[in-house]
Amino acid sequence: MSLKLETKAIKAALGKIKFRTQAFINGKFTPSSSGKTYAAINPANGKKLADVAACEPADVNRAVAAARRSFESGAWSRMKPADRKKILLKFASLVEANAGEIALLDALNAGKPIVDCVNIDMPDTVNCLAWHAELIDKLYERTAPTSIENPTMIVREPIGVVGMIVPWNFPVQMTAWKIGPALAAGNSVVLKPAKQTPFSAIRLAELAAEAGIPAGVFNVIPGFGSVVGQAICRHMDVDMAAFTGSAEVGRELLRYSAESNLKRVILELGGKSPQVVLADAPDLDLVAANAANAAFWNMGENCSSGSRLIVHRSLKDALVKKLIGIVKDWKTGDPVDPDTRMGPMIEKSHGEKVMGYIETGKKEGAKLVYGGRRLLPDSGGFYIEATIFDEVKNSMKIAREEIFGPVLSVIPVKSDEEAVAVANDTNYGLAASLYSKDLSRAHRVARALRAGTVSVNCYSEGDVTTPFGGFKESGFFGRDKSIYAHEQYSELKTIWMQL
Ligand code: NAP
Ligand code: MG
Repeated sequence: MSLKLETKAIKAALGKIKFRTQAFINGKFTPSSSGKTYAAINPANGKKLADVAACEPADVNRAVAAARRSFESGAWSRMKPADRKKILLKFASLVEANAGEIALLDALNAGKPIVDCVNIDMPDTVNCLAWHAELIDKLYERTAPTSIENPTMIVREPIGVVGMIVPWNFPVQMTAWKIGPALAAGNSVVLKPAKQTPFSAIRLAELAAEAGIPAGVFNVIPGFGSVVGQAICRHMDVDMAAFTGSAEVGRELLRYSAESNLKRVILELGGKSPQVVLADAPDLDLVAANAANAAFWNMGENCSSGSRLIVHRSLKDALVKKLIGIVKDWKTGDPVDPDTRMGPMIEKSHGEKVMGYIETGKKEGAKLVYGGRRLLPDSGGFYIEATIFDEVKNSMKIAREEIFGPVLSVIPVKSDEEAVAVANDTNYGLAASLYSKDLSRAHRVARALRAGTVSVNCYSEGDVTTPFGGFKESGFFGRDKSIYAHEQYSELKTIWMQL
């Protein structure tokens, strides 16, 4: 059921909301083996939403054993693709039928504006699950150009038990980007949501079971990264770890793999993505609208946030003025208010970190032209204004480090060459956008930018048909979405015959 974006409808839905708080292992809800729980908080007011199972390595062992049994049984991994598709499509339609409820769970639990959860995260989630389901009975395997005496098949087989670790900024969507292709490819999954945002992933596991996905194929175990996450990624019977989160934890995962069973590791990490505005950019209103969205959508708690605006000096002042005109109308407040465009930071410690960067920007000599303050301090949440620094140098800390908050650095440049050099002068390479009237010029620059996704005359991550992932320290081989995501959840096998 979709949720009407009106105060009355939202209030009624909030009155009925139910939090599933236990782990989901082998098709059933279960408390953690120790019985321990932790409090999941509403970042809008700092109040507890519910106590959630704090799982431990013993629960990881239970979940991995269930996943392994389900995988070896072939009930899912060897099911006819057309039949697996049918069940996954049913799963997608159940998620769609409960989209309003799941949107509210993420809004309450992650501080995300309900308008974004309803209009962006949920349609993308449903579409992602359905798209990967639709793919599986349309893929053909290959033969190799061998001799007639050696007929050969090159086939793809599911990897086995896939551990998944996802972050708090897009809880349900990141879960779907991972389980969509992995389940479609026939794997069994053990997923750990971020400790802050467990509810939507647990709800998905329940709906997956309702759709007919066999017990043990999709398990969700809430808990702490250093405990549950580490136990999954060090487990000798987990064949792959798929991760979205920080580079710091990503590096740990590579270590865990090296020190255990050399499980496959794919990493989707952070970014410091450039938005490049060339001197001939079309329609500054369009650029400003996209640039505001790129920098401040999801409060900047977005790995592909366009946090560096690299703009030709001749356009800079006019563009900054237009940007300020747009963001001053973005309402900051409770995420479940349908007028809210900016919710709180995920938690106090993160909000303080973002405020620390704002102070650093001032000290480094960047020019604060908008925002910079904490808002609604009596709410119990940590709200921060959309913040714009002008005359930033790319060497400054605010231009180099991922802030993961609503802070935009405007960096003036004098030529296309300088724009490209500054854009690429970063350890990251997740996304980039660029603006030019001249498509030849735009194409040349698009090819020169070192990023996994480059959007031209818009800010976009593409859609489910296009791969998403990063160059350089923004990732490690991983791509979410598209046929490339599907392939990475399978192993290649050669079958060589002698007639
Ligand atoms: P994080 O600290 O790396 O956490 C991500 C996940 O890893 C959480 O589930 C976390 O569990 C878990 N984790 C923490 N320590 C672990 C360990 N030692 N072993 C295994 N798992 C562990 O990142 P975050 O603070 O949630 O999210 C912000 C970061 O994610 C940013 O850097 C952002 O750029 C990146 N991100 C990237 C993408 C992308 O697609 N490339 C998308 C979204 C976010 P706990 O919750 O218990 O700590
Ligand atoms: Mg963290």
